[in-house]
Amino acid sequence: MEKKALIGKNLEELREVVAECGMPAFAAKQMARWLYEKRVTDIEAMTDLSKAARQRLAQEGYVVGREAPLAAVKSVDGTAKYLFTGEGGRDVEAVCIPDKDRVTICVSSQAGCKMNCSFCMTGKQGFHGSLTPAAIINQVLSVPESAELTNIVFMGMGEPLDNLDAVLRAIEILTAKWGLAWSPKRITVSSIGKLRELRRLLDETKVHVAISIHSPYPAERESLMPVERAYPIREVIDLLRTYDFSHQRRLSFEYIMFGGLNDDRRHCMELASRLSGLDCRVNLIRFHAIPGSELRPSEPERMEQFRDMLNARGITATIRASRGEDILAACGMLAGKGKKNGNDVN
Ligand code: SF4
Repeated sequence: MEKKALIGKNLEELREVVAECGMPAFAAKQMARWLYEKRVTDIEAMTDLSKAARQRLAQEGYVVGREAPLAAVKSVDGTAKYLFTGEGGRDVEAVCIPDKDRVTICVSSQAGCKMNCSFCMTGKQGFHGSLTPAAIINQVLSVPESAELTNIVFMGMGEPLDNLDAVLRAIEILTAKWGLAWSPKRITVSSIGKLRELRRLLDETKVHVAISIHSPYPAERESLMPVERAYPIREVIDLLRTYDFSHQRRLSFEYIMFGGLNDDRRHCMELASRLSGLDCRVNLIRFHAIPGSELRPSEPERMEQFRDMLNARGITATIRASRGEDILAACGMLAGKGKKNGNDVN
């Protein structure tokens, strides 16, 4: 019988499960507490459910659904990368980044990605499937750092807005009182800016949003991010201008800096002009060279000049520290693993 994961279900879905198994309605809240607060890995550990109820859940094929990482690797800077079972024969990666009093987890939402950005290892491997809410929540619950996590970013493999229902369900579980009870201020969703889905994310949640821009010029952005054709950054910014980011919720733009391509004064001025009047910040990100791409990173001094020019024009800009580069865990380097005929492929 196919196993059915209980993690990844919201309270309403747990109520359906208890009804299906002939259990009292209040058992749904009890199960949510065992799954998300006490974080058990086995139905047998849910000791305030009757033995008959636990047996019935097992008979119907239900399991907690927690899966430990398949592999782990640690960087010299303390960043850790974990491999989890993904979709379509392709595993996915989650990254835990300790930094002073914070521990951030970067989760994947898809195995591979359809967006085909030219600078991204995930994009190079094609699309293999979207993760279920259970597979997303499992990354948060099953990394060894789980109890210490302070922040979550949807910046791993995949485009979160291309798997929006599952991402929204994961956010609901992360923030609900019956779930992990996190503040939405601890959660950031990073996206290329699929318009309809972005509007839904903004309307239905209070999480922070990070938009990948990488160039203020449409043709150039399109050469880096083919998705510019379908979702022009001009329209994305127009949509963002209709929301309030002055307090509670933060808007940031991700700008990977490529040497000789998007790191000069002209780009800086155009970027500042496009973002003028928006309550936002810009994260400048060092590019990590990937095989098969001629793109190269900007010089550190160039990045500092770019940052200072943006700041001088009233746009808060910071250079994001690069973490986990030695274990291929930094921005754009996640690739997961695939299995073909029993052999690992990358
Ligand atoms: S950068 Fe993001 S959206 Fe682009 S291919 Fe990589 S994972 Fe997909």
